[in-house]
Amino acid sequence: MKRSYVLIALCAAAVGCAVSTQQEVQMGQQYSTQLNSTLPVVTDPAIQSYINQLGDSIAKLTGRADLDWKFFVVNTDVVNAFALPGGYIYVNRGVIERATAMDELAGVMGHEIGHVVKRHSVKQMQTQQGANVGIALTCVLTHVCDSQASQAAIQVGGAAVFAKFSRQDEKEADEEGFKNVIRAGISPNGLVSFFQKLMSLEKGGGSAVDAWFSDHPLTEDRIADIQKLIDSKDPAMLRTLTQDSPAFHQFKDRVHALPPGPKPKAATP
Ligand SMILES: [Zn+2]
Repeated sequence: MKRSYVLIALCAAAVGCAVSTQQEVQMGQQYSTQLNSTLPVVTDPAIQSYINQLGDSIAKLTGRADLDWKFFVVNTDVVNAFALPGGYIYVNRGVIERATAMDELAGVMGHEIGHVVKRHSVKQMQTQQGANVGIALTCVLTHVCDSQASQAAIQVGGAAVFAKFSRQDEKEADEEGFKNVIRAGISPNGLVSFFQKLMSLEKGGGSAVDAWFSDHPLTEDRIADIQKLIDSKDPAMLRTLTQDSPAFHQFKDRVHALPPGPKPKAATP
């Protein structure tokens, strides 16, 4: 719990509770180090290399290109992705395996990158004043709570703040995600098709997508809003954007060949 006190102290000490980029990066780094020691993060170099390449191709063209962006694949079938402040992006295997083309994965990553670009977690910390500090992080994010090591991550207080965003923040991250992928030369249609897929999985009662819906409330309205953004663009320009790539499918095959991660357990946050 020590770190959460640091966080509150940091927040309380600062005038107007302003968090500098340096502080934001430090926090992200601390949480990321703790998370990586408890989450089943994939270490395969080829997988790591692709997710970094795709992530950087999007993040390095945003207004926060200066951040030292880090991308991780988590070996769990739970469909979820999340961002820590300072540019630490986590994508679960469950997302990658359900993405049928590169633009779907890119859309999810563009959305998470959008949360960091808009500093949503920092904003939340500033307004909530640590109200959520103490909520179990790992369980909330991935629902992988059965190992002793994962239990230790429950000590990572406060970071759940970074995973739950308001509807307004989600809308903003969608808009950012839309802009982020286009800037990177990637089709924004993947954002819509992946969200639609999640909606139908949810309707079908698929529990693998529960985590996604609790962290990123997804509605038909949100999808319609992204579609409106797409419709506002020149179709000729949209046709020039990349939808898929052989490298993505090689990456996906490699992820698919990984041994299964720890079995997800019902969340008890
Ligand atoms: Zn989100």
